Amino acid sequence: MTVLVRPKALGDYKIREFRMLIDGQWADGAEGRTIERVAPGHGVVVSRYQAATKADAERAIAAARRAFEDGPWARMTASERSLILLRAADMIAERADELAFLDAIESGKPISQARGELAGAADIWRYAAALARELSGESYNTLGEGTLGVVLREPIGVVSIITPWNFPFLIVSQKLPFALAAGCTTVVKPSELTSASTLVLGEILEAAGVPAGVVNIIVGTGPEAGAPLTSHPDVDMVSFTGSTGVGRLTMANAAQTLKKVSLELGGKNPQIVFPDANLDEFVDAAVFGAYFNAGECCNAGSRLILHRDIADEVTARIASLSAKVKVGDPLDPETQVGAIITPQHLEKIAGYVSAASNDGATVAHGGAPLDLGMGQFMTPTILSAVKPEMAVAREEVFGPVLSVLTFETTEEAIRIANSIDYGLSASVWSRDFDTCLTIGRRVRAGTIWMNTFMDGAAELPFGGYRQSGLGRELGRHAVEDYTETKTLNMHIGERTNWWVPR
Ligand code: NDP
Repeated sequence: MTVLVRPKALGDYKIREFRMLIDGQWADGAEGRTIERVAPGHGVVVSRYQAATKADAERAIAAARRAFEDGPWARMTASERSLILLRAADMIAERADELAFLDAIESGKPISQARGELAGAADIWRYAAALARELSGESYNTLGEGTLGVVLREPIGVVSIITPWNFPFLIVSQKLPFALAAGCTTVVKPSELTSASTLVLGEILEAAGVPAGVVNIIVGTGPEAGAPLTSHPDVDMVSFTGSTGVGRLTMANAAQTLKKVSLELGGKNPQIVFPDANLDEFVDAAVFGAYFNAGECCNAGSRLILHRDIADEVTARIASLSAKVKVGDPLDPETQVGAIITPQHLEKIAGYVSAASNDGATVAHGGAPLDLGMGQFMTPTILSAVKPEMAVAREEVFGPVLSVLTFETTEEAIRIANSIDYGLSASVWSRDFDTCLTIGRRVRAGTIWMNTFMDGAAELPFGGYRQSGLGRELGRHAVEDYTETKTLNMHIGERTNWWVPR
């Protein structure tokens, strides 16, 4: 039996109204239309936004362009920019409870988890502030007596930042501070389902001293407000996190003007487990990896690849642990799995489960939506006897659904792990050093965890192979991604090598 945390009615909660941030002004949309967000865990409207049209997106791009060409941001010293980013980090930490509450209520994630994400986000802003001062080029004093070569790093220009709903504040924090550290100006479009915390970030950045026009934030649907950000000629780069399908569209739109594109997309991440692994540690990590953020996580460890000798035992242990996970009210500090983002998405998750059981998979735990009287929830679900060719084993379910596949040899495990289009992350569980390194080298994914799952740090680059994306976020080179390289090739002294003989 799943442990239920029944949602409490929000009662006297007052809807928060938000405007857009364009050129340092809090503005209404050109057509005055609004978007309302219904809290997925409580079923009532909690936020109302001004909806941006194409014209609003173009106004925001024009403001970012002006701020880049004529404003102080790209010209000030790295030390000055860094100081402003540090002030922003402090203010994020000060307002962390408010921001975590907004993310929890709009995305349905548990409040305790949202607080953890806010602490991580403030740390990323501090890391980006430090990197701002490390950004440098190269010099070549080795090209001969008459030549000095200098390689400059310049901000790339106007960057569009488009983010999804599953980690609203964390994902914007993986992009924006690094673009700002490089000296870029930006237009940010969060998911229309979870825009509140990004708009509060706009208030924080204003108060921290980011000049008008450097960060513009618009809210609206992808096709209307997002698409212009991917195609407009005044945008130099698009940094996108979201589904692989919209990532592909973003790249196609950006191709018309050959913009730089950075894409963080979906994942279907294998966890390969050998019989010599510490199974106590693994089963806990498996439950965490599958159900964290209700499985609405690009890094979800949704594909267990278990050695045949331990498959039954491990599946039974995960099923019994799944029953102890607390599901329900996102605002209850005890909750571990919150609500599902929309009713339509819940239907999609349940559809994957029923298709898999029709095709011969066995439901070892869960398998159906949960009616908790308000909002929409899914029971943590584990499916065994899954075949590698089933949709549930290949596609991103983006819900708390774990598929169990089996293997006999290391080669077979690697082949199954690499047999799909995604390559975001993977894990290997074994006490044998050779086994871990073999999997680490041969599985094609941007992050491989060894005897752990989903640990991360601002210092470690993150991104995907193949259809999980292009480019890397975080890490030492994150700021460089938002720069252009310029070569200064300088002649020194009297010219001695004439082209036309003298
Ligand atoms: P979507 O791709 O649907 O949306 C992502 C963002 O793109 C949203 O802001 C959306 O706007 C916008 N968008 C939609 N259509 C367009 C368009 N035509 N032009 C420009 N922008 C558009 O993803 P979800 O929001 O559903 O997020 C879930 C996905 O994100 C999953 O596939 C997940 O794997 C991926 N993800 C990847 C991560 C990674 O780092 N690899 C991390 C987190 C999530 P709106 O929704 O407002 O319409």
